[in-house]
Amino acid sequence: MTDVLVVGSGFFGLTVAEQLANDPGLKVHVIDRRSHLGGNAYSEAEPTTGIEVHRYGAHLFHTSNERVWDYANRFTTFTGYRHHVYSTYRGEVFPLPINLGTINQFTRSAMGPDEARAWVAEQAGAALSGGAAAAQNLEEKAISLIGRPLYEAFIKGYTAKQWQTDPTELSADIITRLPVRYTYDNRYFNDRYEGLPTDGYTAWLERMADHPNITIGLDTDFFDESQPYNKAATVGQLPIVYTGPLDRYFDHAHGPLGWRTLDFESEVLPIGDFQGTPVMNYADTDIPYTRIHEFRHFHPERDYPSDATVIMREFSRFANAGTDDEPYYPVNTSDDRTALKAYRELTEQESQVHFGGRLGTYQYLDMHMAIASALSMVDNILRPGLVRG
Ligand code: FAD
Ligand code: UDP
Repeated sequence: MTDVLVVGSGFFGLTVAEQLANDPGLKVHVIDRRSHLGGNAYSEAEPTTGIEVHRYGAHLFHTSNERVWDYANRFTTFTGYRHHVYSTYRGEVFPLPINLGTINQFTRSAMGPDEARAWVAEQAGAALSGGAAAAQNLEEKAISLIGRPLYEAFIKGYTAKQWQTDPTELSADIITRLPVRYTYDNRYFNDRYEGLPTDGYTAWLERMADHPNITIGLDTDFFDESQPYNKAATVGQLPIVYTGPLDRYFDHAHGPLGWRTLDFESEVLPIGDFQGTPVMNYADTDIPYTRIHEFRHFHPERDYPSDATVIMREFSRFANAGTDDEPYYPVNTSDDRTALKAYRELTEQESQVHFGGRLGTYQYLDMHMAIASALSMVDNILRPGLVRG
C-alpha cells in the first residue's frame, strides 16, 4: 500500500520521500519518467575514462544553510572543491566573477579597490542614477553593478547566447547571483559551505532513496495512462507531491511557460588536460557555445587517467513546448509571470496535490534551495497534514 506518491526523483522529490519514509514512517512511491533517479543532478562515469560526468550540466554544491548542510552530510561527505570560472573574451582569458583582477586586466591598469569602485561608478553613468536598488531588469542591474564596458564585454554577449531574450526583459535576479568583488578573490560562490560529493552525485542521491519504505518506478510518466500511478488514477486517491512542469500538469491551459533548454556536446580527447580549469565561459557571440566543462578538474583528488579527458560544450536555446526538449531554466518574461499567476490559482483547487521543486513551481532553484524548500514543505504542510489525516 502506498501512502504518498512523489512524481519526480530530483533533490526535491527525494528529500520529501526520505523525510516522510523516516518520520512518520509512510510508504512512499516515487516515479520518474527518466530511466535513472536523481533528476538533473544525476552523474555517471564516462565509460572509457571513468571520469564522472554530470549528464545535465555541471552541478556545484554550495550553501550557507546549516540545516541543508547537515542534512546533505547525512548521505555524503564533500571534497574541498572550490569553484572558479574564467571567461574568454576576444581571445583573452579573464577571471570571473568580475573582481579587481578582471577590472585591472580589462582596463590595463593597476587600480586599488577604491579607484576601481570610482571607475565602475563613472562607467555606470548618469542613466542609472538610482543605482543598483532601482534597477528593474538584468541590463540595468548589471550596468549599475559593473558599468557599461564590463557589461558589454562579459555579460551582454554571454547573456544573449544563454537567454536569447532582450536583457531588458530579463529579471535582475539572474545577475544578482554573481558577486562583484573589489578584491582579487575569484571564488565563484560566496556561501559558507561548498564541495562536491566525494563518491559522486548519484551515490548521494541513491543513499537518500535507500529506505525500506521507499519504492521507485523509473521510466514511468505521470501522464501515461497505461501505468498505474498516472494522474487520472491517483489524483484524489492519495496525497501527491508533483515536481514535474507546472504547465504540463494543467495541460497547458494558460499556454506554455517559457523555458530555456541546453544541448550538450561531449568529447573524449586523447590528452591529459584540455583547458587547465573546470569551466571556461565564452563571452563572444561568434562562438556558438556558452561554455566548456572539463570534468576531470572537478575531482583533482581522484586517480583519473593522465592521457584522456572529457569535455562538454554547452549550447543554449528556447525549449519547444510539446517536444522532448528538457526544461532547464525558467525564462520568466512578463507574459510568463502572468501565466504563472493563473497556474498558481489552479493549484489552489488541487488540495491533495503539492507542487514543488524547480519545474513544479517554475522557479530557478539551486540544489540547496530545492532541498531547503522540500524540508519546509514536509515540516509545514505534509507532516502535519498527513499525520492528522
Ligand atoms: P529536477 O532535478 O529537475 O527533478 C525533477 C524530476 O521530475 C526529473 O527527474 C524529471 O524526469 C521528473 N519528471 C518530470 N516530469 C515528470 C513526469 N511527467 N512523470 C514522472 N517524472 C517526471 N544547482 C546547484 O546547486 N548548483 C549548480 O551548479 C547547478 N547547476 C545546474 C545546471 C543546470 C544545467 C541545471 C538545469 C540546473 C542546475 N542546478 C544547479 C539546479 C539543480 O539541478 C536543481 O536545484 C535540482 O535539480 C532541483 O531538483 P528538483 O527535484 O526540483 O528538479
Ligand atoms: N553571466 C554572464 N557572463 C558570464 C557568466 C554569467 O553574462 O560569463 C550571466 C548570465 O546572464 C547568466 C547569469 O549571469 O545567466 C548567472 O550566471 P551563472 O553562472 O549562475 O549561470 P548558470 O550557471 O545558472 O547558467
